[in-house]
Amino acid sequence: MVAGVGGLGSAVLPYLAVAGVGKIRVIDGDKVELSNLNRQILHWDKDIGRAKVDSAKEKLESLNPDIEVEAINEAITEDNVFELVEDYVIVDAMDNLPTRYLLNRAALRKNLPLFHGAVYGFEGRATTIIPGKTSCLRCLYQGVIPGKIPVVGVTPAVIGCIQATEVIKYILGVGELLTDRLLIYDGLNMRFSEVKLKKDPNCCDCK
Ligand SMILES: [Zn+2]
Repeated sequence: MVAGVGGLGSAVLPYLAVAGVGKIRVIDGDKVELSNLNRQILHWDKDIGRAKVDSAKEKLESLNPDIEVEAINEAITEDNVFELVEDYVIVDAMDNLPTRYLLNRAALRKNLPLFHGAVYGFEGRATTIIPGKTSCLRCLYQGVIPGKIPVVGVTPAVIGCIQATEVIKYILGVGELLTDRLLIYDGLNMRFSEVKLKKDPNCCDCK
């Protein structure tokens, strides 16, 4: 399940589709706007005004007709999040912390892996959360960062591909996941760095 079909979703989804992930649920309540097109490459000029999930479903099923994409044109809220995540592997491709917190809580409660990605300008971050084993998103972030997020189009492409790599590894059961580590991409200086993450004993979500 990919929550958010914006810049990150536009990078994660094509690779999951062509890898043959057979059933993909995409969730987004927004319509395509002109200002999205610098980074949300699943949506094209002709899609302006159209629901993002419909635009994404069309492109992904054209890329791989053997997969099924379920398009849910809804905003994720406290009331629907548990139903929406069902028993899916969850990709956090959102652009705001309140919705990320909802996904985090649902992932923890339902014991589902959560693949987190975030971008700002030329900087991006990613980490993988396995409930019961690793620190969670709430251990990492507190509070809320308000306002619009400026993004250079290539940044979500880099981070989305990292998230897709993590999902593919998880499904195949290979390699070492990006757990309890925050990978930080600094595009301006072209450096990757890593911060170790630890469970917060006072975390309101995973304690
Ligand atoms: Zn936590």
